[in-house]
Amino acid sequence: MHIIKSASILTEYLTNLRSSDKNVTVGFVPTMGALHEGHSSLIDESVRSNSITVCSIFVNPTQFGEENDLVTYPKPIENDIALLIKHKCDVLFLPSVEEVYPDQFEATVFDLDGIDFKIEGASRPGHFQGVCNVIARFLQIINPEIAYFGQKDFQQTVVVKKLVQILQSKTKIAVVPIKREPHGLAQSSRNVRLSKKGRQNAAFIYKAISQVKEDYKSLGLQESVAKAIQFINAQKGAKVDYLLAVDTTTLNEVTNVSDANEVAVLTVVEYEGVRLLDNIIL
Ligand code: AMP
Repeated sequence: MHIIKSASILTEYLTNLRSSDKNVTVGFVPTMGALHEGHSSLIDESVRSNSITVCSIFVNPTQFGEENDLVTYPKPIENDIALLIKHKCDVLFLPSVEEVYPDQFEATVFDLDGIDFKIEGASRPGHFQGVCNVIARFLQIINPEIAYFGQKDFQQTVVVKKLVQILQSKTKIAVVPIKREPHGLAQSSRNVRLSKKGRQNAAFIYKAISQVKEDYKSLGLQESVAKAIQFINAQKGAKVDYLLAVDTTTLNEVTNVSDANEVAVLTVVEYEGVRLLDNIIL
């Protein structure tokens, strides 16, 4: 696996590959490192479908609200490199902040039809504009045929699909299902901040949203959502930040499944001081 830290060298490397073989396809997996099975499922998917897979590890400062979350974000780079090699990633793009945001870089404000202000965006102002700016920059550097994103960050997948439309990019967005720990907790780089017991207990989040999927036909959507919120808040040390049913394209809240073609239940739960994201499509 090549490790490339310079944006211009990466662009040049990929341009040369493409000019030597017109059929080369590049799959791109953006990450913030502290890689786990969730990330490797994205890598596997890209390796299966493309001739070259590029994974980036970049803890993007512009998408963090809290300085503390940024400073304490885990950075186990040796383990990450080993995982990428094991999963046959071809290129690790490991840029510095200056490489991604050189002096002449000017942030763009993308018009995302308000999607960036809702739900996760309401809890983390500016977060999705930060995501869009870094992804737009990476698309410019890598110009991949397909970029892979996890369903775990559901709102992010909707935002990024909107971004490629705005940019009129040729890149296709692939959404990969959520990988879970054996008890059901969605895999996340932040899970290491939970106590051992907390990490097992936190399966109540998946249990709650799975129950909505079981209940909504008999109880109705509103009542099953209310029941899930109550169930989570009854767990010691847990507090629902949000748990709601949304239309998967507009992310508008829905009260009946018939209000949308497809409905997802999105949640964030604060547990042992960690924000845990999860979702399920009904
Ligand atoms: P992150 O490093 O947290 O920014 O995540 C990088 C990519 O991996 C994002 O597209 C995430 O949605 C995806 N991802 C993170 N956790 C999981 C998971 N448990 N299952 C599937 N994809 C995931």
